[in-house]
Amino acid sequence: MTEDLARARLHKLAGFFANNPSIQHATPSSPKFAELRAAYVSLPDLNPLVIARPSTVEAAASMVSFVVANDIPFTIRSGGHDSFGRFIRNGAVAVDMRLINYVEIDQESSTARIGGGILGGDFGTVSSVGYAGWAMYGGYGPYSSKFGLGVDQILAAKVINAQGELVDADTELLKALRGAGGAFGVVAELTIPVHRLAQTLAGAIAFQSDDLPAVIRQYNTGYQALCAEGIPAELTLQQSVLNLPHGKTLVVLFVWASSDIKTGQLWAEKISALAPVAHNAVQSTTPLTYLTCTDRMVPSHTRGRVRTISLKRLSEEVLDVISTSVLKMPTDPHTFFAMHEIRTGTPSAQGHSDSVFAVREGLFVFEIIANAQREENLDLATAWGQEFWSELSRTNQESFLPSTYLSLTAPKEVQMSRIFGENFAWLVVMRGKHDPRGVFAAATARL
Ligand SMILES: Cc1cc2nc3c(=O)[nH]c(=O)nc-3n(C[C@H](O)[C@H](O)[C@H](O)COP(=O)(O)OP(=O)(O)OC[C@H]3O[C@@H](n4cnc5c(N)ncnc54)[C@H](O)[C@@H]3O)c2cc1C
Repeated sequence: MTEDLARARLHKLAGFFANNPSIQHATPSSPKFAELRAAYVSLPDLNPLVIARPSTVEAAASMVSFVVANDIPFTIRSGGHDSFGRFIRNGAVAVDMRLINYVEIDQESSTARIGGGILGGDFGTVSSVGYAGWAMYGGYGPYSSKFGLGVDQILAAKVINAQGELVDADTELLKALRGAGGAFGVVAELTIPVHRLAQTLAGAIAFQSDDLPAVIRQYNTGYQALCAEGIPAELTLQQSVLNLPHGKTLVVLFVWASSDIKTGQLWAEKISALAPVAHNAVQSTTPLTYLTCTDRMVPSHTRGRVRTISLKRLSEEVLDVISTSVLKMPTDPHTFFAMHEIRTGTPSAQGHSDSVFAVREGLFVFEIIANAQREENLDLATAWGQEFWSELSRTNQESFLPSTYLSLTAPKEVQMSRIFGENFAWLVVMRGKHDPRGVFAAATARL
């Protein structure tokens, strides 16, 4: 963009903000710009023209309508947790949705209407991840096995369309939003179900990891045997290998989503019997307290990138690669490995014809977090992430799913036709119908 064009756009925007004083905004010279621009991953080279902060859905619609009418490129930002910066662009207006963070619960229908910019901390997953950004593209969470993925929580939506109009999403638009999200509009409001869970049994189990390859194998052999016998949907487990102060450790997050705490305790015993335990923090708690605890494990800010791969099963060969790779993992506290799982038989593992989120069978989503707290560790973390991913890619292709988790896949590596599978052709037609000018071209889902 030329300086003249930038100046002309800024001039138009200044007029718009003068007429809409309720919409807060910051330009690169504003004192708050750096704070507002900051995101989970450091992205020093990306600088929006303006950060606009509407506080109501109507104000967000006016903002979008103005930039669309004036051919000014824009991006949408909520939690800013996209590792690849798909929420800001140089020279574009960043519409920061975070002030639209209301929650209105309807007791009778057990549903809630939530603002499109609400974060997990306002509401309930990782505190700084945006709910809409998380849910629209999949949304693995601590209660996924019991209640389903985030994408399956979207009951209704108010969307700002490509003309800048605020509309209620119809059946067709809802289907597209459930998986391909921002390519079809700005989510101003979502209606989601309310799951009542006053008490839960949750916490981290750290296994003795002096011999990390052995403990990973022992845990997974036992876990697979438990899966074959059948694990209740109430139980969600997440494996990870973390750099703890005393060394690399296999940590399993245990969440029991039922008030039947006695049965949960039996399952906590079964899981902690899979390998020798160093520390077991599973306890009766509330979902909110548990979230506060897991939050402490997530840094607010880091540098680096994530790599992902989705596998149908953890074969011996894959377990060997995991074991070798985590031994080589740099010791920076922000570098780690984790996996999400959709277990066969749980709600989101079944076909959902009202959604384009394609991968529904039992699967493991690997998160190779090649991040570094310290700048000097970044090259090492990047090389480790690349090597781990390459080694996994060389294992037997029969275990692989064609699709990867969109939110964690780099724009350069993403293959949308594989991500959306048989829904891809339909999505391309829908995009042509709903956004013929491509005003949502910056969305994570590019069609
Ligand atoms: C520390 C961390 C933990 C994570 N944990 C998990 C996890 O447990 N499970 C999981 O499934 N994923 C997880 N993720 C991935 C995360 O869910 C996605 O990256 C998600 O898209 C982030 O949403 P956001 O609003 O925070 O980010 P942003 O970067 O603000 O937005 C991400 C994308 O969504 C779009 N978007 C955001 N809000 C709207 C809106 N209202 N309307 C239209 N488009 C919008 C943005 O334009 C952008 O393309 C994690 C990521 C990080 C960094």
